[in-house]
Amino acid sequence: MASIAVIGAGITGITTAYKLLKHGFDVTVFDRNAYAAMETSFANGGQLSASNAEVWNQPATFLKGVKWMLRKDAPLLVHPAPSWHKLSWMAEFVLAARDYETNTIATTRLAIEARRHLLEMAETEGFAFDAERRGILHVYESRKEFTHAAGVNRLLEEGGLVRRAVTPQEIAAIEPRINGRFVGGFFTESDFTGDIHKFTRRLAEACVRHGATLRFDADVRVLAAAETGGASVTYADRRDPAAEPRTERFDAVVVCAGTASRKLARQLGDRVNIYPVKGYSLTVNLDDAESRAAAPYVSILDDHAKIVTSRLGADRLRLAGTAEFAGENRDIKAARIRPLVDWCRMRFPGVSTDSVVPWAGLRPMMPNMMPRVGRGRRPAVFYNTGHGHLGWTLAGATAEMIAAEIAGSFRNEPLAGSSGSRRQEALAA
Ligand SMILES: Cc1cc2nc3c(=O)[nH]c(=O)nc-3n(C[C@H](O)[C@H](O)[C@H](O)COP(=O)(O)OP(=O)(O)OC[C@H]3O[C@@H](n4cnc5c(N)ncnc54)[C@H](O)[C@@H]3O)c2cc1C
Repeated sequence: MASIAVIGAGITGITTAYKLLKHGFDVTVFDRNAYAAMETSFANGGQLSASNAEVWNQPATFLKGVKWMLRKDAPLLVHPAPSWHKLSWMAEFVLAARDYETNTIATTRLAIEARRHLLEMAETEGFAFDAERRGILHVYESRKEFTHAAGVNRLLEEGGLVRRAVTPQEIAAIEPRINGRFVGGFFTESDFTGDIHKFTRRLAEACVRHGATLRFDADVRVLAAAETGGASVTYADRRDPAAEPRTERFDAVVVCAGTASRKLARQLGDRVNIYPVKGYSLTVNLDDAESRAAAPYVSILDDHAKIVTSRLGADRLRLAGTAEFAGENRDIKAARIRPLVDWCRMRFPGVSTDSVVPWAGLRPMMPNMMPRVGRGRRPAVFYNTGHGHLGWTLAGATAEMIAAEIAGSFRNEPLAGSSGSRRQEALAA
């Protein structure tokens, strides 16, 4: 049985580990945190949204970036301080506009494919993750933005998604709790939401049950891979700072390290140009009956404010948004949280915001907004990373893709089809 190291225990690393186990591999996951899903997969927007598959590489985004540069509360904020990484990434981001249509269609297909993998994992392993299968509603107060969205619909349709236009009256019928003067919206019944943190944690437990080794507090310092095959992982134990770093050898390594993937890829001779695009979320604790009744169950995407919502069970409402280009900075800034609180009070006046939990995370974003899934230059090196704004949505599909590719390269006979039945038997034996 070939041994595979997975670097990172976020949603991409844990889904990759799970799929590799299904293919019969001996899997070890390394993460520098004490638990799974403590970085970007901690408190995101919650949307599993094929309907949000549009990539951002288009002139309107570039113009907004420049226009909003000095507005601290803008949904998209590019800090003017230059860095070589930011400038080179921005240049590639602008160039990727030529693939805007192709990449939007490809992301839509991937997002649709991912749904069944994700649901199947939760169902097979028997865990809940506050999933709400009530669709995602995009709302517009500006005619111009609504017209642009109608154009995007053509691309989503080409990718296989059904997203229908709805009138203001239909918006009120789909989610009566929302407040606004909408000109129209789009509703995607097949999209849904769930808690990424709960999902990742429960799936990590399932990986352990199925024989994976999860090394937490393991800060990976060096990845090495020979031209002839094989890879090694050198890591420091964060619980024992005085100890020497340890090295373990594997048949292959998969890098799923979020924003750290760029640095680790460089050690392996690959360029994976991820930029950390910061976003914020606010979890509103729905402590009283009035707030619980006034908070939406249908997931919302307010296109102008670029804010999404997800109802996480009866007692929590998650709001998320903003994109900030400020490097590897995880500070939670009041000026970025305020618009989320204000938006919640404006759209859902009956929801009390007296108990909220702010959070900031870094989206591991490639310039063309497509995840990097596949081989590196050296034979034992693989990537499933760079998922940017849609890692939760896409992880189920990309994990299957990379696990199948690794299985193919080791000529391992897969133990199971997507049902996983043979693997289950093998694991139970
Ligand atoms: C505000 C916000 C809202 C979002 N909303 C949505 C949404 O609604 N829908 C959606 O689909 N996506 C959303 N996303 C995007 C999604 O959350 C990410 O794409 C996804 O979480 C990325 O997962 P990951 O596994 O690649 O990275 P991470 O979750 O960051 O995992 C990487 C892991 O690698 C580990 N690591 C890194 N370096 C090392 C090292 N040297 N040694 C050991 N371990 C290491 C880290 O500890 C971490 O656990 C949102 C993101 C943000 C910030």
